[in-house]
Amino acid sequence: MSLFAQEIPRANLVVCGARIVDPVEGIDVVADVRVDDGVITAIGDRLDTNDHRVVGASGRVLAPAFVDPHVHLRTPGREDEETIASGTAAAAAGGYCAILAMPNTEPVVDSAAVLTGLVARARKEAIVPTGFLAAITKRQAGEELTEMGELADAGAAGFTDDGRPVASAAMMRRALAYHAITGRRLAVHCEEPSLTKGTHLHAGAVSAELGIGGYPSLGESLCVERDLALAADTGQPLHLMHLSARESVEALERAQARGTSATGEVTPHHLCLTDDAVRSLDPNLKMNPPLRADSDRAALIEALRAGTIAAVATDHAPHAREEKELTFEDAPFGVTGLETAFAALYTHLVLPGLLTLETLLERMSAGPARIFGLDRPRIAKGAPANLVLLDLESGWRVDEAGFRSRSANSWLLGERLQGRVAMTVADGRVAFE
Ligand SMILES: [Zn+2]
Ligand SMILES: [Zn+2]
Repeated sequence: MSLFAQEIPRANLVVCGARIVDPVEGIDVVADVRVDDGVITAIGDRLDTNDHRVVGASGRVLAPAFVDPHVHLRTPGREDEETIASGTAAAAAGGYCAILAMPNTEPVVDSAAVLTGLVARARKEAIVPTGFLAAITKRQAGEELTEMGELADAGAAGFTDDGRPVASAAMMRRALAYHAITGRRLAVHCEEPSLTKGTHLHAGAVSAELGIGGYPSLGESLCVERDLALAADTGQPLHLMHLSARESVEALERAQARGTSATGEVTPHHLCLTDDAVRSLDPNLKMNPPLRADSDRAALIEALRAGTIAAVATDHAPHAREEKELTFEDAPFGVTGLETAFAALYTHLVLPGLLTLETLLERMSAGPARIFGLDRPRIAKGAPANLVLLDLESGWRVDEAGFRSRSANSWLLGERLQGRVAMTVADGRVAFE
């Protein structure tokens, strides 16, 4: 068990008349779904509602709720930017029934003591089940492996030094070898620091035009190639985080074709935007890895469609207002995303016909769950209720005042999106409506 949440009473309800879409179960039907004490007990026409609460849902889509494998909850250490309570409230509002938090906090989650403290806080505060990845190296300094066995026993959902790469190939190789003992997935932020030092956006036409140091695609793909080679050599699985470059996607595709157990994730911002948007020098468009060229975006969308990249991950990275009010070059990397991910991807990929709704739903739920060995949210009799009710007709304007997150560094501020989360049920409990 690697997900933790507070005890909220389990729901008794009947969702009536929604279009039920579960691509993995092969369901696409208009029907009612009954939930008894947090468990799906019936799917069918005109179900007996007993004394249950009735949720009228005709014209809406009911799907398996989403899983986000990459969230920064900034806890411990920067609770002014996000807490477990605010971050999981944002997740619930975004339709998520499970999230995984990154360990690059203050202090770093590199000991069982820090991890145990977080688990205790999640049991008090988390509105949706939350898992914690622990660091690969102590203080994420890249010099000494953490006690991975002990951390796995204490509940670590996986391991990562996200925020930075594991610079030493030898260290990465040893970390991979530990997977055979812990069984917990290694997730890597691939970056070759000697190529990316002092850079702020993608190395391309826009960085040249603005005269700002550019982060080349090779700065990512070189490290992707190295880590895939190490995964193949050790025979251990590896997860590549926030892929941004076409060359990285091609490397992943080749590795998978050779039988390497490698998976990848992509963020909504890399799927929706290119470095063209960075001309505005809005600090809310500064992230690591950076927004890249049209051809990169096209390769990411195609890889997500084909399943080479199996998961959408927000890389939700809250920052305090004063940090993002700096100039582009001084501002930190990272944008929020939990509350806008579905609507952004529905608006920018599904409506223009670049991705089907079914594929998007799968890559936001079953795909990421499978990578980290979590139970797949599903709409089936006997399954715990992990449901998202979506209003695809509803348009809305992204507004800071509407965020549950403590931070508002969204790349979508002021934008109109279509598709809204109306309700989220996470592990049998109503987490958002
Ligand atoms: Zn990262
Ligand atoms: Zn991250």
